[in-house]
Amino acid sequence: MSEKSLPPALMEKLNLACRNWAGELPARLRKIQEIWTGLQPDSWQKERFDTLHRMVHSLAGSGATFGFPRVGEKARVMENLIATWCLRGEVPDQTGRNAVSQALQHLVEQIALDLRTGPAPIMVEEAEESQKTPPREAALILLAEPDALWSKTLGQQLACYGYRVETCTTLDILLRRLEVVSPGVVILNVAMPDGDGALYWRRFREERENLPPVIFITRQGDLETRLNVVRAGGVTLFEKPVDITRLVDTLDELVHPLHEEPYRILVVDDSRALAQHLANILEEGGMQTKVVNNPLDVLEHLHEFRPDLALMDLYMPQCTGLELARVIRQQPVFVGMPIVFLSGEKNLDKQLSAMATGGDDFLTKPIQPDHLVRSVLTRVRRSRILQGFMIKDSLTGLYNHTRTKEQLALAVGRAQRLGKPLAMAMVDIDKFKSVNDTYGHPTGDRVIRSLSRLLRQRVRSTDIVGRYGGEEFAVIFPETDGETALGVMDTLREAFSTIQHQFEETVFTRTFSCGVAAFPGQQTATALNDAADRALYEAKNGGRNRVVLAGK
Ligand code: GH3
Ligand code: MG
Ligand code: MG
Repeated sequence: MSEKSLPPALMEKLNLACRNWAGELPARLRKIQEIWTGLQPDSWQKERFDTLHRMVHSLAGSGATFGFPRVGEKARVMENLIATWCLRGEVPDQTGRNAVSQALQHLVEQIALDLRTGPAPIMVEEAEESQKTPPREAALILLAEPDALWSKTLGQQLACYGYRVETCTTLDILLRRLEVVSPGVVILNVAMPDGDGALYWRRFREERENLPPVIFITRQGDLETRLNVVRAGGVTLFEKPVDITRLVDTLDELVHPLHEEPYRILVVDDSRALAQHLANILEEGGMQTKVVNNPLDVLEHLHEFRPDLALMDLYMPQCTGLELARVIRQQPVFVGMPIVFLSGEKNLDKQLSAMATGGDDFLTKPIQPDHLVRSVLTRVRRSRILQGFMIKDSLTGLYNHTRTKEQLALAVGRAQRLGKPLAMAMVDIDKFKSVNDTYGHPTGDRVIRSLSRLLRQRVRSTDIVGRYGGEEFAVIFPETDGETALGVMDTLREAFSTIQHQFEETVFTRTFSCGVAAFPGQQTATALNDAADRALYEAKNGGRNRVVLAGK
């Protein structure tokens, strides 16, 4: 999603939400009037006062969000008056009653007026830009390279990592292809038969917008070439022979990791309409959401949904957001989860006290959809990075041993509950010690990384890949039987054996062995782990470079 525009489908959803909210408005107003006029002038009825406060508060907080900003403002005036009496815990005197009645009257008039004119348009710009160019195809790489043999080899290598390479032998062909397709990245040789690639791209950039990122290739990276590449806006320059692992690293960074799990956001708000509205906006921003209307249900959803961030209302009838944040923070697993309060509360003192209790941030209603998406994304990204330090292996970015075992236990539990199969593969690189011995430890590290990358890229996003030990990996396949996992791992085995690793001028290949085991054949996480380990041992004994399914 671009920062300023929202897709038409979302606009439609937002407009519908606005109309629904407007539809419920008369009934809500009637209820407020009923409570207000029903209050006894001489006795303090705490519960009724609190309900009244909450209802007016909710109107004040959601008015602008649903296209009725002036209704929101009038409700806010009334809310502030009521809040004063709630705080004192006393029945309003005559002056106080008059003030509230007058504010209510203004609210009634505003609602009548606004219901006739309808909600204000949602303030976002039309999605013109995104309609002009076709959506970017992340996995497609356009390679402009005159050497056919070299292109073919590179194409095969990149295919192992899930990229599709299309070759253009001249700049002219590249230009024409770019009219039709929108690749994730362009790889451009500086020395093309019909001109200098870098100079050409620099001119091209002045005429065309929305071009994909470009990586340059050269035989010799002298200063002039490097300068030209910088001026052409090139991401980087690779000298031939190209280090494939580093090239793939760069490609992955440019097109975003394909298998990064979507961010999970828990939305807690007692107003169903508002919670759903927030969830729609976040989902459209690429996040997964779970809506909880009763804060008392939050705990049960925390463990199942494992949110990356909780967005919660501050005032809810069952318990306040502050209390809820404290409860969440009592659990060690959720100590690091960002909690963002969303409320109409403009009082700085209260905001600060919300943060002190364990909230990480405070967003004030009404909030623009784009702003909401961006604020949440910033926080959740930072938190994933921090989390990553604790649970990820630093060489490969995969789950570390401990985390992989936790994931396995969770996956087995889920498979048992759902009555679905589950497979696990243990992978170990063959004769890896000789890589270190022959080419040195850093080259060994690169081989480990190339396998981790291959595994991560070629399995589904719901599968879990972990680094179990030095050159040992585990893959967990939910809802998959042993035979299917065996097939997947065998394709990967073949792909890995064709990857060319490099040490200076020498190119070499490596293989791996793999053991696969499955639930329900193996009933517990430990049994599954042991069976996969034994199958791996069998694969090694059987001559290596093979996949063995336990119990076959
Ligand atoms: P096999 O086919 O039986 O698996 O033979 P192997 O040589 O792969 O087996 P072994 O387990 O004896 O050797 C694994 C080697 O991996 C030993 C260790 O030095 C090396 N290793 C472990 N972790 C790392 C690492 O992070 N980086 C590098 N470069 N090497 C590592
Ligand atoms: Mg090994
Ligand atoms: Mg080993």
